[in-house]
Amino acid sequence: MDASIMEGSNLKAGAVSMVRGVKNPISLARLVMEKTEHILLAGIGAEAFAKEMKCKFETADYFYEEFRFQQWQQLKDSGKTSLDHSENKERKFGTVGAVACDAHGNLAAATSTGGMTNKKFGRIGDSPLIGAGTYANNKTCAVSCTGSGEFFIQGVVAYDISCLMEYKGMTLVEACEEVVNKKLLKLGGDGGVVAVDTNGNMAMPFNTEGMYRASMNTKQEKLIQIYR
Ligand code: ASP
Repeated sequence: MDASIMEGSNLKAGAVSMVRGVKNPISLARLVMEKTEHILLAGIGAEAFAKEMKCKFETADYFYEEFRFQQWQQLKDSGKTSLDHSENKERKFGTVGAVACDAHGNLAAATSTGGMTNKKFGRIGDSPLIGAGTYANNKTCAVSCTGSGEFFIQGVVAYDISCLMEYKGMTLVEACEEVVNKKLLKLGGDGGVVAVDTNGNMAMPFNTEGMYRASMNTKQEKLIQIYR
């Protein structure tokens, strides 16, 4: 599992990659941010830190999901990978991303994932990489990504959205459109983002068939959608 978290007010960030057994990898990412001098811990080192921090661990049974196992069975000798939102729309469990803006315009972003199905052992996606899968900066926006991670790394997607706002003066919606529906598509990348700017404007664009998404504003108005 991979996870990362970032605060927009001070650009502090924490991330973990290739962890097994940790019940809540995103809490571990937050501990990396708050309790260490580092940003990204991986593998057995990240797990040792989790034990030191007394994080909850679970056995493999806890993480077992019949549907995911079957999905992997179908793919395992094919050399292919798949995303949770590219097929089987009934299943809502996969990468989880969240972004938030408080009353003072403070932003935060977080992403947690088991990664793509049938990824190679040792493969790291965009989710634990600050700038690729997750980014937050009070000057611009907070972004969390989901999709085929390699393209999000190539496009440095989360940071690119922030850059277009910072350097080109684009609005959040314009910057997200430019990156998700133009630049990412050009690379051949499929996926989407959830994003919020420092004034509370939101954008949740995707270039796949659907993306499970929801939002709530200060008036408690909710939006819950899957398809366009
Ligand atoms: N971005 C994740 C990865 O590449 C997968 C996902 O978003 O579903 O590992």
